[in-house]
Amino acid sequence: MGVALTAKVIDGRAVAARVRADVAAQVEVFVKEGGAPPALAMVLVGDDPASAVYVGGKQRACEEVGIAGFDYRLAAETSREEVVALLERLNADDAISGILLQLPVPDHLDGDELTSLIAPAKDVDGLTPESAGLLAHGRPGLRPCTPMGVVELLDAHDVALEGAEAVVIGRSQLVGRPLAALLQERNATVTVCHSWTRDLGTVCARAHVLVAAVGQPRFVQGGWVKPGAAVIDVGITRTEEGLVGDVDFDAAVKRAGLISPVPGGVGPMTIAMLLRNTLVAARARAA
Ligand code: NAP
Repeated sequence: MGVALTAKVIDGRAVAARVRADVAAQVEVFVKEGGAPPALAMVLVGDDPASAVYVGGKQRACEEVGIAGFDYRLAAETSREEVVALLERLNADDAISGILLQLPVPDHLDGDELTSLIAPAKDVDGLTPESAGLLAHGRPGLRPCTPMGVVELLDAHDVALEGAEAVVIGRSQLVGRPLAALLQERNATVTVCHSWTRDLGTVCARAHVLVAAVGQPRFVQGGWVKPGAAVIDVGITRTEEGLVGDVDFDAAVKRAGLISPVPGGVGPMTIAMLLRNTLVAARARAA
């Protein structure tokens, strides 16, 4: 009788806490050496309750590590011109290290267009076309937080990326695309899958590293997981039973070597990487 495999389950909260503690220590040194405390400006347009919760969480996380968090809450009916004027003011403000525009914005505004107005040096979400271009060209720049959090989780568990087959399901600007570039930068052989991919299960079964960023609960079946693979679940869907990831965890945990849960996996890493990016941006301004 074979011994049932059970994956090591990643504790994303613990890894994120280590990153935050490291950022806090580095902020302290930066300020002791004469740097102004890093400052993050968060712009929230409208009253979407989930967005307000996210911004509140980011604000508290900033405080904990010694980053000044500035909240700009604008009414839902704020005009494009007013948002543009605020972003331009923040771009020009020497006291601000990083700017974040919380998405989604109300329907009369274009989130992509507004994001693209953030100065690349302050683009701590790494979502402007310029930041994406720098990543695509392999040049230094601020990288998107969630994909960086995925790589940080893999590194924290010593997952070998060099030469590994990595399969990323999803090709969004927010997650899949930049993650594929980051994994390629680390010399993984990367396959990006999307809604047109044929025989997805067979493609996934090749992966030493499998990342799901689809947004469909329990989409990735246990049988798609190569035995011993590292499986990272980026997906978050709110359901009646709580937050559910893109991976059928109960089935996948029996085949994977390492797996991230939802909640408590990638989620906590995103804010931790935002804090790190804000410190990186502050340092670059001071240099
Ligand atoms: P998105 O923009 O909706 O992109 C989803 C991707 O999945 C698309 O590329 C889409 O392919 C692909 N897809 C959809 N159905 C598919 C199918 N049947 N087979 C293969 N691929 C399929 O979503 P996102 O912004 O990347 O987010 C993905 C998930 O991650 C969501 O649940 C989101 O809530 C979560 N998320 C979590 C965090 C975090 O902090 N943990 C951060 C960001 C996002 P096409 O391109 O062909 O349409």
